[in-house]
Amino acid sequence: MDATHADVALLRCEDYDRTKLDAIIAQAAEIAGFPDVRGATILVKPNVLNASPAAKAVTTHPEFVGAVIRFALSQGAKEVLVGDSPGWQPGALAAKTSGIYDAVKQNGGKWVDFREASPHAVNHGKRLRNIPLTTWLEHVDIVINLPKLKNHRLMTYTGAMKNLFGLIPGTAKSAMHMQYPGVMEFGEMLVDLALSIPRCFTFMDGIVAMQGEGPGSGTPYSLGIVLASQSIAKLDWIAARCVGYDPALIPYLADGLRRTLQSEAIIEPAISPLSVQDVSHEGFELLPYHSELGRKLGAIPNAMRAFAGSLIRLRPVFHTDKCIGCGACVQICPANALALDSKNKTHIVRIDDKLCITCFCCHEVCPAKAISIGRVPMRLWHRAKRS
Ligand code: SF4
Ligand code: SF4
Repeated sequence: MDATHADVALLRCEDYDRTKLDAIIAQAAEIAGFPDVRGATILVKPNVLNASPAAKAVTTHPEFVGAVIRFALSQGAKEVLVGDSPGWQPGALAAKTSGIYDAVKQNGGKWVDFREASPHAVNHGKRLRNIPLTTWLEHVDIVINLPKLKNHRLMTYTGAMKNLFGLIPGTAKSAMHMQYPGVMEFGEMLVDLALSIPRCFTFMDGIVAMQGEGPGSGTPYSLGIVLASQSIAKLDWIAARCVGYDPALIPYLADGLRRTLQSEAIIEPAISPLSVQDVSHEGFELLPYHSELGRKLGAIPNAMRAFAGSLIRLRPVFHTDKCIGCGACVQICPANALALDSKNKTHIVRIDDKLCITCFCCHEVCPAKAISIGRVPMRLWHRAKRS
């Protein structure tokens, strides 16, 4: 934070009314120190997870994207490009369904798909030395990050840092899940990536957030907030607090803030004009922390721990009655653990437990809420049977 700006701007905004949004974006930018973008080419990165209508709160709201484009152009930006790379669908298709594609066109921006990648250097990374990111980064002066505030089955919470994972084009994202299958290592990779983007300013859409089974299958929750910051890690820390998480218990949020502060000691980011208490919502349906599972296992005697772990380990569960046979889960699965069997309008997805790395990408992309995350009993029995 410089002397005149807050680490994180936190404002109330109850809906996506254009006039209100224009005022809130301008105010948030002023409080958090929006950079000088005169003559700049900007890449705006909303969350376009998949082809979902805006009302489902899976994607950043199109009105929010439109307001940020208008603001950037009003500040003298030369060109505003807007793009993303959903897990398995073409970006433009997903952007059209959400309404973002039209919002971009109507407000003077230009939609770009992330198809090509080039190596992007990561200095001081814990996991990465370089990473393949969209070649559009080579043509822009600054990134404006527009995450949606959501729960996330693998990472517990998703916001500013996780949204930048979408800078990796297409299925290369799945390869990262294979390379970094654990929550800790995947989280460190996310922080490496996020902190390597040199000029990045974030506006977060927390007006309607996603609670429950995020990031694709949860339910919309009217939270009524907008956040902005020069620091993605500080913004995530505050946003997670606003919905009731303790960010210290979400490893990648703690890692991101420590690395940003360059200190093991956590110093709470300075917020303005509202405080977390002003906006906190007790009704938001949270996901359990990964550390809770570890704690439960830790309390069990050694001899029983492996068996207990197999009983309470979470993995995707497929619901034939809801499955529409789209094949998205099979396509996205980085471990090739899934097969789709479609006969007479009945679709059955089969999972190979021995291959599954529990990355939950399948759950993330399923358009039909046909995948839940559940505890699968008798996992050891399944393993023994197959080996
Ligand atoms: S089955 Fe689902 S959770 Fe398991 S590896 Fe494949 S995508 Fe990940
Ligand atoms: S489980 Fe979901 S993603 Fe997989 S085929 Fe069925 S509807 Fe598609």
